[in-house]
Amino acid sequence: GFVVYWSRNKDLRLDDNTALSYASAIAQDLKLPLLYLHIFSIGDYKSHDRSPRRIDFQLRQLAYLRKRLHDLDIPLLTITQESRRKDVPRVLCEKLEEWGAVGLYANIEYEVDELRRDTEILERAREARETGEGWRGKVEFFKDFCIISPGELTTKQGKPYSVYSPYQRAWSEKINSHLVDYVVQHNGPVIANDPSTRKHPVLGPMFDHEIPTAIAGFELEGGEEEAKVMRHLWPVGDGITEGIMDRFMKTKLRPAKFFDPPLEGDAEEVADPKKDSKIGQYREGRNRVDWDGTSHISAYLAAGFISPRDCIRRAYEISGGRELPGGRDTGIGMWCQEVAWRDFYNHVLATWPRVSMAKPFNLKYDETIEWATDDDDKKFQAWVDGKTGFPIVDAAMRALKREGYMHNRCRMIVASFLTKDLLIDWRKGEKYFMQQLLDGDLASNNGGWQWCASTGTDPQPYFCRIIVQRIFNPASQSEKVDPSGEYIRHWLPELKSIKSKAIHEPSKTMSKKQLEDLGYCMPIVDHSKARTKAIEAYKTAAASA
Ligand code: FAD
Repeated sequence: GFVVYWSRNKDLRLDDNTALSYASAIAQDLKLPLLYLHIFSIGDYKSHDRSPRRIDFQLRQLAYLRKRLHDLDIPLLTITQESRRKDVPRVLCEKLEEWGAVGLYANIEYEVDELRRDTEILERAREARETGEGWRGKVEFFKDFCIISPGELTTKQGKPYSVYSPYQRAWSEKINSHLVDYVVQHNGPVIANDPSTRKHPVLGPMFDHEIPTAIAGFELEGGEEEAKVMRHLWPVGDGITEGIMDRFMKTKLRPAKFFDPPLEGDAEEVADPKKDSKIGQYREGRNRVDWDGTSHISAYLAAGFISPRDCIRRAYEISGGRELPGGRDTGIGMWCQEVAWRDFYNHVLATWPRVSMAKPFNLKYDETIEWATDDDDKKFQAWVDGKTGFPIVDAAMRALKREGYMHNRCRMIVASFLTKDLLIDWRKGEKYFMQQLLDGDLASNNGGWQWCASTGTDPQPYFCRIIVQRIFNPASQSEKVDPSGEYIRHWLPELKSIKSKAIHEPSKTMSKKQLEDLGYCMPIVDHSKARTKAIEAYKTAAASA
């Protein structure tokens, strides 16, 4: 027999991994070898609009993990499951029985279909134990993806939090009252198998198993050129996540270089983590898209190449190690609050599964907003292509296409633009983001889109005000987030010659002909008219609910 760790799409690492650490300890106790198993579930990828870039990133990481695991005499096997995801429990249990595995250990995924899949596996194993037919090993699922897992925090009345600020305060308090459990303590390391595993009748041949280099149907759109860009910007391997965190926490905030691969580029100037480093200056730096002010760790966190605990453990260490800062008055505290958003949106996803079924959190807006019709596909395409005539929107959309990443402030601007200026259904934007982002994650992406579309977890009495507040004026936002204009100049080289503030709204000072001569276009909507129309559409929706 042997023990199986089933790696998911969100926990692709060996260090500080709850289920893997547990499986490894059990294998040691039972004096059995460990198998690292990964299933490519094509049905899941399709239904979650998983981006080919994210899949390529995973494949690269799996190839890297395979090497590290082989050094520990642990085989890594991948299985590609083509048919629908509901077949995964059956196929997996059949395999486990055929192999003679004694236990299956994995981390919980909070998406509703994934929870159903895991429940079915538990049911199958239980039934098999009762009937004596089928695979009847031990199955256990672990909390790992969040720092504070869904269900662990409730209001004083025992209800789930539906608003971020009180959630975040409770999140900080809980962590600080259980620092050892949430921050200090690591999961134990993966323990090597006995070298004789290489001769094991079932596991031995698995050492020859190669990780696929692509998954059919999910090839990178831009072929070799795109593969090169992705590998350059988002490397995998030894010391990568450590390097990204060090760069964020220990080097000086500086203008963006759009953006260097995390570990290359100019030598970074060493800085004080609490003062002039990127994290030290995060309160200001995070709002500037022309500065390199955020961590760029999201893709690694979303796919689990680094544990979320590891992120805040570092913040805790550099802050002096007495408590985890959570306030808005320091850069470190502010950054920890951002990491808390990730837990919050996973909590929302697990508590109100309708959000993963294309429903708004706020049911007032379920089927009540009159979104633009299909005739507006042209406008959607202009948004996708970065050809709306609003430079900050276009720059951000081109960055997304090229790099699989977009700065948070820009995500908010382009999402507000799509849902309010163009009145296009947020679900279209959510889907497109998932297809392009390297850090695409259902909970955070859905949460971000619903926040921008004002259909999400907002304090209810203020919802009208929130709609008005979240109609961003692209030109004034642009001046705020890209005051130097360098972000726009980088991504829209056709506007490079505009050196003044006019770059934020060139249509104000230039004619259609002048813009066309530069290779740019006039705005596809009038922002102030669009704003009035959006407020009306939301008011009508709320009244008709
Ligand atoms: P930092 O500023 O360094 O933040 C550190 C980490 O905290 C991030 O890596 C991320 O894991 C987490 N975080 C920060 N802000 C948020 C937030 N608002 N919500 C949830 N987690 C947050 N983030 C994703 O990881 N995946 C997504 O698919 C995603 N889609 C988004 C869609 C929209 C419309 C919006 C407005 C935001 C979205 N975000 C998403 C949140 C945020 O934009 C990114 O996490 C952030 O830009 C990543 O850059 P960073 O790692 O440098 O962030």
